[in-house]
Amino acid sequence: MTWDRIAGKLGKDNLALLAEKRVGIVGLGSGGSFVALSLAMSGVGHFVLIDPDVLEAGNVVRHAADLRDVGKPKVTAVAELIHQRAPNAVVETRIGRIEANLDALDHLDVLIVGVDGEGPKYVINQACLARDLTAIYAGVYERGEGGDVCIIQPYVGPCYACWAAELREGLVDPRADVELDYGMIGADGTLEAEPGLWLDVVRVAAAQADMALSYLLRATDARKPLPGNTIILANNMLEIAEGHHLLPFSAEWVQIERDPHCLVCGDAVRADRLQEQQPELSLDDLMQEAGISLETPEEEEQSS
Ligand SMILES: [Zn+2]
Repeated sequence: MTWDRIAGKLGKDNLALLAEKRVGIVGLGSGGSFVALSLAMSGVGHFVLIDPDVLEAGNVVRHAADLRDVGKPKVTAVAELIHQRAPNAVVETRIGRIEANLDALDHLDVLIVGVDGEGPKYVINQACLARDLTAIYAGVYERGEGGDVCIIQPYVGPCYACWAAELREGLVDPRADVELDYGMIGADGTLEAEPGLWLDVVRVAAAQADMALSYLLRATDARKPLPGNTIILANNMLEIAEGHHLLPFSAEWVQIERDPHCLVCGDAVRADRLQEQQPELSLDDLMQEAGISLETPEEEEQSS
């Protein structure tokens, strides 16, 4: 087992730095499993994996794990895959919904969000703001036509609620100044997504993993400066604004700004927070504001 080639690419010190980093991954489906494996193969040393589901036979055409793992919790299957590539990696697994495992987000260096539902993303957003934890979200568009990845750094840029208000509801592209017609949210609060192929998902997940690596190495000479906080990737010809197409396999960077009036991270909330008069934010209010309906899980387990 040798990491010489990775050290040659990233530098020995940077590889040692990655070995100390703790990455959380919420959602170990097609995208999350690929990101987990990719980061393990790049030298990241600590993982916290969170997902409630068991791997089913129908998953394996779009998952890093295969038929040998059917019946195992996805977090267990992915933990084993990580150890097949990086035996020294430390992997903590949580079988359950993120809402019941928010304490798993403590002491992370970055969070990978690989869940489809917009509801859980809003819960994650608030938990990350409270912890000053940077998160990287990915979404794959209907039929795998394309997807997007964004990095959300608390109070540096937009929070996920600011971002989604721009990009998930008739986004106005800051440059084209016309409405985007992708990334629409369905009635069930989930990004409209007829599943694409594994390779459609992987193009987006690879960008998510790369963005995470770039963030973890931001203070080093191996960092990769990125021209925006959001990348839109095309698998097929993708019309991202009227008359504005991305060619297959191409991508476009977008910079989304923080909304000072955001109910989650806006100036009023920040001022309240500074005075320790944090108003209890209602998730329903936020979802309503964003035009998203949220199905409340029947058994809402709350971590204490
Ligand atoms: Zn915000």
